Amino acid sequence: METIIEGCKSIVPCEGKEDVITWIAHPKGQFIVLSAWNVFGRKAAVNTWHRLICSSPSISRHCFISWLAAGNKLKTLDTVAEWKGGVDITCVYCHGAVDSRDHLYFDCAFSTSIWKTVLHKLGERRIPRVWSFELQRASIKYKGKSLRAAIARSAWHACKYHIWKARNGNIFEGIALSESKVVECIKQDVECRLMGTKGLHQKVRNGC
Ligand SMILES: [Zn+2]
Repeated sequence: METIIEGCKSIVPCEGKEDVITWIAHPKGQFIVLSAWNVFGRKAAVNTWHRLICSSPSISRHCFISWLAAGNKLKTLDTVAEWKGGVDITCVYCHGAVDSRDHLYFDCAFSTSIWKTVLHKLGERRIPRVWSFELQRASIKYKGKSLRAAIARSAWHACKYHIWKARNGNIFEGIALSESKVVECIKQDVECRLMGTKGLHQKVRNGC
């Protein structure tokens, strides 16, 4: 939409000629579905994380924070500093980097430790990598209707939520939760959500 608005600003009205509608995504100006797919469909395909956000079971407030994180819409201090001067933008945990989405997930030692522990509980013994990698990997690996995928999705969203909540509590209320406490909160929420989901408790019992 911004592209369309910017394009309209450069239009110079031509007197004596009727307006003509042109589909600029096609060389001949004709609207065809394939060209529309090339413009919008491929773009949508890039957002592979939308299925990760929308798939159940997950707690809605977890999904909301996860969605904000995926779209880089969280009000981390680097974004706050864009419209408010004099803000200390260093990370409240390590004090060695700027508080940003990409630092919080998962460049900071605090959150990296949490996600690493959660990954281990999911059966993935590896070191967390940068945000873009983790998001893409989760979008691909945590899809489907299996119990494993459902638990992983729920854990992914819970992790985003509780790290964000712990970070806010530390900055605004001076409450410094330990990594193990945050992991415990994630574990409790995931278990609670899964047990409350119709059909999943039976899958848990069957181990599938
Ligand atoms: Zn940090």
